Amino acid sequence: MPEAIQVSPAANVGAKPVAVTLRGLSKSFGDVVAVDGVDLDIYDGEFLTLLGPSGSGKTTVLRMIAGFELPTGGSVELNGHDVTNRAPFERDVNTVFQDYALFPHMTVAQNVEYGLRVKKVPKGERRQRALEALASVQLAGFEQRKPSEMSGGQRQRVALARALVNRPSVLLLDEPLGALDLKLREQMQVELKQLQRQVGITFIFVTHDQEEALTMSDRIAVFNAGRIEQVGTPADVYERPLTPFVAGFVGTSNLLQGTVAEKILGTSGVFSIRPEKIRIAKPLDRPSTGEHSAAGVVRDVVYVGAATRFVVDLEASGYLVALQQNLQTSSMDVLGMRGRQVQLIWRREHETAVG
Ligand code: ADP
Ligand code: MG
Repeated sequence: MPEAIQVSPAANVGAKPVAVTLRGLSKSFGDVVAVDGVDLDIYDGEFLTLLGPSGSGKTTVLRMIAGFELPTGGSVELNGHDVTNRAPFERDVNTVFQDYALFPHMTVAQNVEYGLRVKKVPKGERRQRALEALASVQLAGFEQRKPSEMSGGQRQRVALARALVNRPSVLLLDEPLGALDLKLREQMQVELKQLQRQVGITFIFVTHDQEEALTMSDRIAVFNAGRIEQVGTPADVYERPLTPFVAGFVGTSNLLQGTVAEKILGTSGVFSIRPEKIRIAKPLDRPSTGEHSAAGVVRDVVYVGAATRFVVDLEASGYLVALQQNLQTSSMDVLGMRGRQVQLIWRREHETAVG
């Protein structure tokens, strides 16, 4: 019988196609362990965010996927091929950086065409693809400008077009909105997400901003000290954080633990309760079935327009933060709450064990 490599079609049934696979990925710089054994599958067409504080290893992971940095351990696979030791130009990925890295002396069109010129794509096709890429980021008509004649948001769009024109299977984005002011940043978050859906390219997006991650991502990988603490949908990591770090970094840290947890919840362990799940009631109000409560005194009131944040010192020691929508109340009403005795009440199902 002839030797043949059989690829069984049944083997892959039900599995989503994987664009990027990281296995035991590690990187040390001298004594500094920047990335410490990262395992991650990123699916085809997915918007995946690496979220974590500064120095947690996000950029180093991205640079290893791009090939700008060689791992000290582990492997990188792109579309099923091991590319761990391949040069950047041999990988079907493109990177968009925070500082855009546009060529100042070239026009917008020349900047966008640059990669195609290097690849010796004929002039007519180059022009055509550059026009399409610029149109996809809403910059039709800006072809002849210089980067210096554009706003920060427009320059970031040029940088995106320059990456998209290569039609990579994976686009890497390292804090691409970090230099923009809040309004523009929020607008670009929505546009970028729409663009990703439209082009269907796998996006691996780096940010330290939890709201940005929650807004844009299909899934989020939460980084802490070179490791992934949790991977999940925005709802997963926000509503069901697996560790105290994730509970604190994604959203407000609102933990009950030790003797306080025993007194209030009747169990030991560490529990997270999201501020918007806590209701502020009168001191003598009692919890109904399926609820827990804690008595306390309002230490601080922060009026934030649509909502108010209350910091409540608990009788049992420690504090909890509660967030209430300003449905009926004015700023005067809520600010008058400072120093008052209250009862905090929440549903038991909103307590999440985090360790
Ligand atoms: P992040 O992008 O999450 O802020 P980085 O991946 O840039 O984190 O860095 C992770 C850690 O590795 C940090 O402690 C950083 O100082 C260190 N590091 C990154 N690049 C280098 C380098 N080229 N040389 C030495 N240390 C580095
Ligand atoms: Mg970084």
